[in-house]
Amino acid sequence: MRILVLGGAGYIGSHTVYELIEAGEDVVIVDNLLTGFREAIHPQATFYEGDIRDRTFMDCVFEKEKIDGVIHFAASSQVGESMKDPLKYYSNNLCGTETLLESMVAHGIDKIVFSSTAATYGEPENIPIKENDRTLPTNCYGETKLSMEKMFKWTANAHNLRYVSLRYFNACGAHPNGKIGEAHSPETHLIPLILQVPNGQREYISVFGNDYDTKDGTCVRDYIHVNDLAQAHILAMKYLMNGGESDIFNLGNGVGFTVKEVIETAREVTGHPIPAKEEMRRSGDPSTLIASSEKAKTVLGWNPQYADLRVIIDTAWRWHQSHPNGYKIEG
Ligand code: UDP
Repeated sequence: MRILVLGGAGYIGSHTVYELIEAGEDVVIVDNLLTGFREAIHPQATFYEGDIRDRTFMDCVFEKEKIDGVIHFAASSQVGESMKDPLKYYSNNLCGTETLLESMVAHGIDKIVFSSTAATYGEPENIPIKENDRTLPTNCYGETKLSMEKMFKWTANAHNLRYVSLRYFNACGAHPNGKIGEAHSPETHLIPLILQVPNGQREYISVFGNDYDTKDGTCVRDYIHVNDLAQAHILAMKYLMNGGESDIFNLGNGVGFTVKEVIETAREVTGHPIPAKEEMRRSGDPSTLIASSEKAKTVLGWNPQYADLRVIIDTAWRWHQSHPNGYKIEG
């Protein structure tokens, strides 16, 4: 397969590219490098620097490369930023996808795997969450991802195109090869922020809210290793290649950990006391998000390999110790 990975220099995109190449596939990457890193690009991939909102550029890529399918990670993904700058999210996520789909339809590219999110559900009705549960996003990021899913649905309906939307829960961890990992600027995610404490870059970790209706009052999340997410994208592409119908799948381990449990596990993994400070709730945070991933397991044959939170945090810890400033050169 020759797969075009949009956003292949980003966190989940770069891990998927590594796994695709490991599986013997050809990979073309498009990334505008606004949040992705040149250093995260696999040396065997063909790379085009550019923006999916640029129709001429996208047409050029599809004309030059014979693409069998597209995996789409090229989107803005910070909840807090989406609340402060919603139009950036509409432009990057929705307008970007619209231009991409126009170009795909014009070039007869008919398969796409799309990175969606548990943020499409908002405050869940049921735990664990199933794919046909209510979707009522509590932030603009989730709203744009849900709208992107609908754009795929109606486009697939009108044109000869099939899609798989993968709704991730909390992506975390790093590739065990030590070459790529999580690097956001600014960092907002729990596990990398916790690990900044034993790495000497932060004095304590803030715990956002202690009065949620959970076993210790802190939010519960379903943490899923980035390599397991990468494998799900490859399986989803194979599913489409084998004639599978358009569909939506949750990706999580089906187990929830509170913020305090994650901090405690990081203390065990790193051997550092990691002081924690209880603070106000962060706006837009649902109290509990746990996936039912039975559908991905049954239909796609997905089988996560990193279900143990200790192992997940250990891969992240190795990455952050060896790359304390992410991909930026030291000094
Ligand atoms: N969180 C926290 N302190 C931090 C960062 C995050 O307590 O410094 C909490 C956050 O409120 C949420 C959980 O950790 O309940 C996971 O947050 P993250 O931003 O990693 O992912 P999200 O669930 O928002 O996608």
